[in-house]
Amino acid sequence: LNIVAQVPFIREVAEITYYMWQNGWDERNAGNVSCLLDEEEVARHIDIHEIVRTLPLSFPVPELAGKYLIVTGSGKYFRHMIAEPEANLGVIRINEAGSGVDILWGLANEAEPTSELAAHLMTHVARRQVDPEHRVIIHTHATNIIAMSIVHELDESKLTRTLWQMCTECIVIFPDGVGVLPWIVPGTNEIGRLTAEKMKDTRIVIWPHHGIFGTGSSIDDAFGLIETVEKAAGIYMQIAHLPIKQLITDHQLHALAQRYGVVPVSGILQL
Ligand code: 13P
Ligand code: ZN
Repeated sequence: LNIVAQVPFIREVAEITYYMWQNGWDERNAGNVSCLLDEEEVARHIDIHEIVRTLPLSFPVPELAGKYLIVTGSGKYFRHMIAEPEANLGVIRINEAGSGVDILWGLANEAEPTSELAAHLMTHVARRQVDPEHRVIIHTHATNIIAMSIVHELDESKLTRTLWQMCTECIVIFPDGVGVLPWIVPGTNEIGRLTAEKMKDTRIVIWPHHGIFGTGSSIDDAFGLIETVEKAAGIYMQIAHLPIKQLITDHQLHALAQRYGVVPVSGILQL
């Protein structure tokens, strides 16, 4: 039987990546996903004592020693994830020193984990420190978020407020707001370190002219966050050049936060 059908964590990643490609967000090899997995969950489907290959890490992550993850491969197309999971996805374990990874399944034909592995692993460390439920990181080249990063100021507070103003649910879904980095060369330890630093305070980091990192307790949680931000960015791109007649006011945003029991990041609403 097809492994995608058999193994829930492979199916989930294969399906969400394929779906993001269908959304037009992940052209060619754009985007990457990683999920922390429980040892028992992995051992049910994969021989965890058989190390297929090892790879060194250029950034040590002792905090993740012994942890299992499913990751997308570098240069791999989201369009192919469902048809060829073994070539495009991998199940890895961080070694005991946190200095390298053991490949346990997938990443066939000498494929490597995503070139954004630094951003993923460092962000897993950062998010787990503030959220014990944290498990999933999705990076995608969401179209309207990239467009908005060209025409909107890149000030975090201003960008967060604009997104909250676009549709009523936003402040409830991402009360922590969005983190924004300056433009940085992707696939570097530097972009990883700076992304993880922002992730101490938020679950979403925007990379201008590039895309978004979203995190959560599950694929649904991380993806739901990203599609909410992308929806708001899409509305912004439809209306930004038109004469604005009204927006959700800061008092209305405050009332929303109160009704849904979320605490908006301070310093944004002017009440
Ligand atoms: P990978 O194919 O190495 O995951 O890179 C894609 C990408 O989006 C880089 O930011
Ligand atoms: Zn990217």
